Amino acid sequence: MRQFIALLITLLYVNASYADNRATLLDFRFATSDKRTQIIIDLDKKIKYSINTNVKKIHLNIQNVKLLSQTYDKIFYTDSRIKKTRIKRQKNTMNFVFSTAEKYKVNSYLLQPDDKYQHHRLVINLNNIATQQKTKKQKHNQPTQQKIILIDAGHGGQDPGAIGYKHTQEKHITLSIAKKLAKLINRTEGMKAVLTRRGDYYVGLTKRIKIAQANKASVFISIHADAVPRRSARGASVYTLSERGGSTKFSRQLERSQNIEQSFGGRKNLIKNDQYLNKILWNLSRKDRDIQSQKLGHKVLKQMSKIGYLHKKIPQKAGFVVLKTPAIPSVLIETAFISNPQEEERLNNTKEQEKIANAIYQGVLNYYR
Ligand SMILES: [Zn+2]
Repeated sequence: MRQFIALLITLLYVNASYADNRATLLDFRFATSDKRTQIIIDLDKKIKYSINTNVKKIHLNIQNVKLLSQTYDKIFYTDSRIKKTRIKRQKNTMNFVFSTAEKYKVNSYLLQPDDKYQHHRLVINLNNIATQQKTKKQKHNQPTQQKIILIDAGHGGQDPGAIGYKHTQEKHITLSIAKKLAKLINRTEGMKAVLTRRGDYYVGLTKRIKIAQANKASVFISIHADAVPRRSARGASVYTLSERGGSTKFSRQLERSQNIEQSFGGRKNLIKNDQYLNKILWNLSRKDRDIQSQKLGHKVLKQMSKIGYLHKKIPQKAGFVVLKTPAIPSVLIETAFISNPQEEERLNNTKEQEKIANAIYQGVLNYYR
């Protein structure tokens, strides 16, 4: 009996000293954010560990440790980055294998107890590689990331545009709305407005396109006011480019009067090099541009419907020259009918002009959302 007790004591002693020697993994905590997943392991003492990573696996090796049974379940945390965790025990060494969704930049460090935390901690960070690169790029290119919103006030100078019942000239209305829209755009972070004209002077249609291209505009918005002989016609419409060109008398006239080829810049040189490739690229950029134009048109029209009548409930397709801006989504907005006496009055009203400018502005914001 005495021998047995002695053995028991010896065993307990050995066990106790053995346990004392090992560190205990007290807790596993995880924190997931957009940029990284953090694994925090709480320990009762400092440990020796090693980490090896390959493509989609992180091997964590901790020597001379034991795991509390209540901690066990906490290890198997999953999120967008950690898909699965396995544990292997080899004597006093524990191997953790974290299977991950992709390759991450892994860094780790040990922290000592401090005022806030009573335990030693092993911290392992799984950082997104793409995000880090993007952040660096964004910081680098910040000024060029700004969206240039090209605002085109229709007509100007010797071209008065349509003339209302009370002799209101379209060119003044369009400039007034364009300037109000520019003010709203320029107050918006990440956006800058460029006007094709800032005063009452003539700017050719081809010149307007060139201004958009030179400024690397992300969208082109041409502002107009409609006119027809029938005085009762009312409401706003939005036009986007049609592949086949316009069907209205006005757009046909415009297409005839302008040398469209000329506005396409270096296109002819490209044709010489590789006609087939050029055709595909050209059509692709046009197709994408047209889809984007349609989207922008819809967004603007939706906002316009909140402040007044709509003449046409969906964006109309036309072949206006100002819309033939290669690869820049473009819309032409007929804000209202200057030929309708009530709408003419509305177009002359500063408050109403502000409402129109704001509707277009909201449409642009929604387009980018
Ligand atoms: Zn016009």
